[in-house]
Amino acid sequence: MKPAHHLDPATVVAFAAGALSEAMAVVAATHLAGCSHCHEQVRDAERIGGVLVEQQQPDGAGAARREKLRAAMLERLDETPVEAPGLAPALPAAPDPDRLPAPLHPYFGTSFGALKWRWMAPGVHCIRSAGTGGGQLFMLRITPGRSMPLHSHGRGELTQVLRGAYDDVLGHFGPGDVADLDSEVMHQPVTAAGVPCICVAALDAPLRFPGWLARRLQPLVGL
Ligand SMILES: [Zn+2]
Repeated sequence: MKPAHHLDPATVVAFAAGALSEAMAVVAATHLAGCSHCHEQVRDAERIGGVLVEQQQPDGAGAARREKLRAAMLERLDETPVEAPGLAPALPAAPDPDRLPAPLHPYFGTSFGALKWRWMAPGVHCIRSAGTGGGQLFMLRITPGRSMPLHSHGRGELTQVLRGAYDDVLGHFGPGDVADLDSEVMHQPVTAAGVPCICVAALDAPLRFPGWLARRLQPLVGL
């Protein structure tokens, strides 16, 4: 199924430039692994970035030679399917439903079935990855039909749905969809009926819960 919700253009450019925190980059790469639309955007951003770098080279080589190099580079990019650094192949040969997306393997292992979930709140389980230098990276598993506390974020939140689905003010988010939210968005996700919703999410700053119950919950959930 093709994703309906994509990365923000600013996130695409930051990813291509290697400017995202590690946690955000992992979630972005997870989305990119299954989204040809965003993949193309990243390639465009890299192409433009490459041209800019090329134009800033000292003039010693001569304009004609530089133009030739640039043309060769663009040609090579066109020939090479995909391959931004750190990206997994867009389409695995035989998708195994138990296999986690490749960008998550260094942080959470390779298999849904082997995930070590920890209880976080009624209906909510979590796994936090200790391995990221920047930002917080975690997976959530939320019971179907559950409402999460209303919250906004200090900076960015990037959430990729892996299984199940949820709805909030921004729409319906199913497998493959990414929610790329800035600090302005106040939202209250409600998971859809059916299977538990499993997401991988990155935060650049602590969540801010407005309600007293949510504030009491915050130290418990540790986000
Ligand atoms: Zn996309």
